[in-house]
This record gives sequence, C-alpha cells and structure tokens, in this order.
Amino acid sequence: MDRDLVKIQSFGVDSFNFEEAVDYAYSHPGQIVTINPEMISAASKMPEFANVISNADLVVPDGIGVEIGLKILGHNIRRIPGIELGKALIVKFSNENKSVAMVGAKPEIITKAVENLKSEIPNLNIVYSHDGYFSDDNEILNNVTAAGPDLVLVALGSPKQEFFINALKSKLPNTTMIGLGGSFDVWAGAVNRAPVIWRKLGLEWLYRVINEPRRIKRIFPTLPVFVLNVCKERLFTKKC
Ligand code: UDP
Repeated sequence: MDRDLVKIQSFGVDSFNFEEAVDYAYSHPGQIVTINPEMISAASKMPEFANVISNADLVVPDGIGVEIGLKILGHNIRRIPGIELGKALIVKFSNENKSVAMVGAKPEIITKAVENLKSEIPNLNIVYSHDGYFSDDNEILNNVTAAGPDLVLVALGSPKQEFFINALKSKLPNTTMIGLGGSFDVWAGAVNRAPVIWRKLGLEWLYRVINEPRRIKRIFPTLPVFVLNVCKERLFTKKC
C-alpha cells in the first residue's frame, strides 16, 4: 500500500481510510501526525514545526476542520480521530504480541489510563510509561529507547508531542509513534468524549468547548481563518 497525499495549506495529508491507516501504520514505522487546523496555523508560523509535519511518515486528518478544508479543495477524505487511531493501533500491536510505550498526561492520569487499557486489552504489553511533566527530555527519550517498544503513544499536547516524537525517530527507527493530545485523559476516564451523535454531526469540537470553555481561544479565530485560507487556496489553484 503506497501513500497518496493531498495538499492542504502546503501540508501533505494521507488519503487513507481508517482501516488502511491502521494497516499502514502497523507495517510502516515512523511518525504519525494527527493534523488539525490549530496545528496547521501554528506550523505556518513555526518553520521547525512545519518541517516535522512535512517529514512525518503518516499524516491523518484529525477532526472536522481538516475534513471540511479538504472538501473545499475537492477531496472527499473522512476524518480519522487520533484517539480512535491510537486505540486501534494499541489493539493491533497487542494482537501481534508487540510492545507499547506511553508518555504524557498528569501522573495520576497516565497511571489510570494504563490500568484501564490493561483491563480492556488483555494481551497489552506496556514496556514503559511516564507522565508528561518532566524537565529533562533526554532522560525520557533515552528511557523510551532503552525499553525498545514497537509502538509509542505520546500525549504532551501539540507541538510538544510532535517534537518529542521527531527526536525519538532516529533512536527507534523500527517503531511506530503517534501524538495523541488529550487522549490519555479520556482513557483514564477523567474527560468524556462527545456522545456519538455529536461526533457523527462533526460537533465534537463544540462539545469540548462547552465542557472546557478555555478551548474557545484555540478555536477562534483559528478555525474560521483556516477555512478562509483554504477558500483562498482553492481560488488560487483555480479548482473552483
Ligand atoms: N501535557 C503533558 N505535558 C505538558 C503539557 C500537557 O503531558 O507539558 C498533557 C496534558 O496533561 C494533556 C495533554 O498533554 O493530557 C494535552 O491535552 P490537550 O487537550 O491540550 O491536547 P489536544 O488534544 O487539544 O491536542
């Protein structure tokens, strides 16, 4: 299976569906980026972050914002929520007797998330886990490397987690690594995902804003500006 990338705001996004993304991530080690409009906006102002995204080995559209943007550009590609891809990868790697490492979130959160995942996925083999509040990146990078996991899940928020994974890539060239934002909080049961109907309607972002109003600052004006920029991109590429 080869990558088939489409461009949005100069970033390549893979056109895989969910199952293809899981299979590709399983059989191709490297960095997975779950891209959203906030990341695209941050990367457009931060060349080092843009480089990390451009050098990623798999880039999936995480959320309705990128899905809408892609649609405006004429690409019918379904969103792949990072939290669902992350869980599917844990299950897939565990079924194949592969090992997993997790880094991120508050100490009590990572402990509870690991506990919950272990009871949900009996053959899960977690060889390393650490919370995301450390001062010495190198120490944690070396510890993860020494554990030699096949799959690494990093939840430090963006762009911290993408930089962390990028630094890990050369140390663990045969490992699949994914940045997962606030997923550990959900797996620990500390935060609820939006009910399925909200997700189906593409309103997970609204549910999160209602439950965590501070998130509004991340979405506005980033989301409308992103949609506007994509419209300009479409006009510019004369595809409309
Ligand atoms: N986090 C962390 N270390 C930090 C900053 C954040 O481990 O220095 C964790 C935080 O506890 C949370 C996750 O990173 O579990 C970020 O969640 P957020 O909801 O901000 O991410 P998003 O899904 O919006 O990218």
